[in-house]
Amino acid sequence: MISIQSKLPGVGTTIFTVMSKLAEEYKAINLSQGFPDYPCDPKLITEVTKAMKKGFNQYAPMPGLPALRELIAEKAHHLYGAPYDPDTEVTITAGGTQAIFTALGASISPGDEVIIFEPAYDSYAPAVKLLGGLVKPYELAPPNYEIDWEMVRKLFSANTKMIILNSPQNPTGCILSEKDIKALIRLTRNTDILILSDEVYEHIIFDGQTHHSIALYPELRERSFITASFGKLLHTTGWKLGYCLAPERLMKEFRKVHQFNVFSVNTPMQLGIANYLKDPSTYLGLSAFFQEKRDLFRSLLSETKFKLLPCNGSYFQCISYAHLSNEKDNEMAVSLVRDYGVASIPVSAFYTKHTDHSVLRFCFAKKQETLEKAVQRLMKL
Ligand code: PMP
Ligand code: GLN
Repeated sequence: MISIQSKLPGVGTTIFTVMSKLAEEYKAINLSQGFPDYPCDPKLITEVTKAMKKGFNQYAPMPGLPALRELIAEKAHHLYGAPYDPDTEVTITAGGTQAIFTALGASISPGDEVIIFEPAYDSYAPAVKLLGGLVKPYELAPPNYEIDWEMVRKLFSANTKMIILNSPQNPTGCILSEKDIKALIRLTRNTDILILSDEVYEHIIFDGQTHHSIALYPELRERSFITASFGKLLHTTGWKLGYCLAPERLMKEFRKVHQFNVFSVNTPMQLGIANYLKDPSTYLGLSAFFQEKRDLFRSLLSETKFKLLPCNGSYFQCISYAHLSNEKDNEMAVSLVRDYGVASIPVSAFYTKHTDHSVLRFCFAKKQETLEKAVQRLMKL
């Protein structure tokens, strides 16, 4: 029997797949994996269909369709004052995940150390390890998951290659403040450290707060890959389209990997999205749209026994059940699906060491009736 030595021996199937499968098995309401249960704007479907019917069905240019890259560059300029050149500094990818993987592929060599803030989106650590890099996790704790930047400094070594950021953050819903960014600027000044800033939730931020994109800060921009996802922006997670922004020096290397990773991505969808996004209200209204859902979900959940953790952005709400039970969070998540018919994500899945703070994550990118029905079930607990 021929077999291969696993490059990721500690890795199983992702928690999103596991929980969504369980939800299906138990016919539960699926608030685990992050995706909307309502349709995207029909105008977007019309634009994509139009592009297909007009015959835009062959390979797109390797970095993406110029019309879409131009639009993204304009958006970054308008919102953050960042002068990204659409020809050399913007690349369209097959979702945020591929943008992250490609940025890491272009940057990480064996022995390089990468600092990540945990709980962290689950693709970062395996991608770093696959490339021979070493993950240096900094564990944050509920309820506020604040970063002590002096602790970050302690993780630095001669081999520190990159820091991965994610604001608004999945799964905690926390956001980086201007103070955090200033600390990051001080810490990285006069170093060669790269930043990968995963900003897939940049347009989902609540209570009038500002998204401190890395693109806003020239000193950080120069050392950063910024990644984004149209799945989040357009309620189309199944389309797997996203993009990466980076200064030309970095983007040149990114594209060397991208061209042999996917070469280019879905042409009619790129064109459809480019035409659809000409109207900025399509994404500038997202925060208000999701804030209404967050407020409804939080007010419904306040009738349950769970303790709500803060949620400043993203479409995830975390709760603590530490005061109710000693059960491990993965067991708790399984019993919620099996006995109460609601699927969630155990947050220990986002820590390298599976640190368990008795916290579960729920996705509220759902119809009002889905959220109401789910909480009715959770009230029985
Ligand atoms: N980063 C974070 C923080 C995410 O939550 C997700 C999931 N949407 C991604 C990256 C991946 O995005 P995509 O589905 O476009 O690959
Ligand atoms: N980003 C989504 C989440 O965090 C789903 C990602 C996935 O299924 N890989 O739930």
